[in-house]
Amino acid sequence: MTAPAPLTFPLAGLLGEPAGTERRYDVAGVTIPLADDLRLTEPLEGEVRIARTNRGVIVEAHLGASIAGTCARCLRDIEIPIAVDVREEALPSVELASGHPVDTASEPEVTRLTSHHELERGALVADAISLAEPIAPLCEEACPGLCPTCGERLGPEHAEHEQDEIDPRLAALRAFRSADSEATDAGDEGRANEAADDGEPASR
Ligand SMILES: [Zn+2]
Ligand SMILES: [Zn+2]
Repeated sequence: MTAPAPLTFPLAGLLGEPAGTERRYDVAGVTIPLADDLRLTEPLEGEVRIARTNRGVIVEAHLGASIAGTCARCLRDIEIPIAVDVREEALPSVELASGHPVDTASEPEVTRLTSHHELERGALVADAISLAEPIAPLCEEACPGLCPTCGERLGPEHAEHEQDEIDPRLAALRAFRSADSEATDAGDEGRANEAADDGEPASR
């Protein structure tokens, strides 16, 4: 059986069956609305099993999808695989036989079927995907990150830089140092020796 998108399951038939009866739904190519900053790159795939109990149903869902993301180190676009596993009980909100509303006050926290005996889990799965989004996803475990000199991604495709081509802040420091060593050279012998004693060569 194929589940009707988006993750809504009509269960009036199952509720008429004895406890223990199980339905299995294949989920394939299902897309659901997500939070504003999230986008599916691969639709939901997986399986949902819904079993009749003496008071309602037990739902077990194992779903996978991919969402668009950015590598936290090299900033390139990546697809992040997401797994969503749900196991929960859901109870009717309307008595099947009489159509009378069920008193839901005694169990306000439990998942309820709709008044048409449907289980709607699109919003739950969307929330689960948001929660499963990693804080700092990586394109690969050993992502080398970005080159501090040119900002390109390090790795096989990144060309080595010449030694002189260094960070502008370091370049400024080097210019300062060479000016300092020139001043030392211009000074008297004693000061030049002091610098040598410190283990600092007078010039580089
Ligand atoms: Zn990366
Ligand atoms: Zn570089």
